[in-house]
Amino acid sequence: MSSASTENVIIIGTGCAGLTAAIYTARANLKPLVIEGNQPGGQLTTTSEVENYPGFENGIDGFALMDQMRKQAKRFGTRFFQGYVKKVDFSQSSYVISTGEQEFRARSVIISTGAAPRLLGLESEKLLFGGGGVTTCATCDGAFYRDMDVVVVGGGDSACEEALFLTRFCSKVTLIHRRDQLRASQIMQDRVFASEKIEVLWDTVVDDILGAEEKAVRGVRLRNRKTDQVSELPCKGVFMAIGHIPNTQPFAGSLDLDDDGYLLPVPGSQVKTKIPGVYAAGDCVDHVYRQAVTAAGMGCQAAIEAERWLAEQES
Ligand code: NAP
Repeated sequence: MSSASTENVIIIGTGCAGLTAAIYTARANLKPLVIEGNQPGGQLTTTSEVENYPGFENGIDGFALMDQMRKQAKRFGTRFFQGYVKKVDFSQSSYVISTGEQEFRARSVIISTGAAPRLLGLESEKLLFGGGGVTTCATCDGAFYRDMDVVVVGGGDSACEEALFLTRFCSKVTLIHRRDQLRASQIMQDRVFASEKIEVLWDTVVDDILGAEEKAVRGVRLRNRKTDQVSELPCKGVFMAIGHIPNTQPFAGSLDLDDDGYLLPVPGSQVKTKIPGVYAAGDCVDHVYRQAVTAAGMGCQAAIEAERWLAEQES
């Protein structure tokens, strides 16, 4: 394992929060090092049109937005390292960040590791994930289901967005929601209800995904939670959109997490953790707003805090 010289600031993660922190700290001449993680660009790279990020009157493709942010960060001197942080040690004055193969040291750290899609936890889901027909990304995989029937599981904005996107390709989209009311914003609900291709199944859960033997989804076994009635619905694809789990495991021993695994900032701050010089921004800490623009805002806050912290250490 190699050990490098001490960085001013290491940013972990490259979603909106991490790249905004990179732009700010790079412009402050701190020469940030960004550790990219398993999904460079974060969750927005799997989104189609982003219509609510300010500055784009006609919306912008999620991948294009993240690509622009990365180039902007690079332009001011941000360096990128491809790797996944497995371990940290904040007990020493220069903080240690380790990917397993590579070890880094930094005076300050900005954690912006985002969140990963939640799954139901079914054995069949695991067996059929990816090429078998279970996926979490309509943008990535929707086109494979042209003229086929698919289901989307969930009742939030993501589920509605996925369902609407899939109507471009699929013959029918069934939205399966465990309650009798969607959690999604009104505008998304209106769009879902207006679509002739989408049917909503209320109070319904997926008990099993059928097709594990053939290694290809052929349907879902459903259960109505009010009547306990069990039924099977034939489909070729299952799109899971039931929320996210924060990517905070490497920090569990060093920082405070809430019951759902989100990093806990200290009272009175959105981005300061209990360790001085260590900040958290975006979906790994924010379970309330979870928007690209709020993540970017938190990345900016964390960068400014890191800059101040480093200046204080030198004075
Ligand atoms: P979410 O709002 O947390 O919704 C998750 C949905 O999955 C809920 O309907 C929940 O049901 C359901 N669910 C959770 N666990 C489940 C389980 N084990 N089995 C069955 N259903 C389950 O997550 P999200 O839709 O990913 O959205 C996250 C945030 O991003 C939100 O703030 C959202 O507004 C935002 N977002 C915005 C946009 C946009 O503005 N274009 C697009 C996507 C996401 P219950 O309702 O019963 O809890």
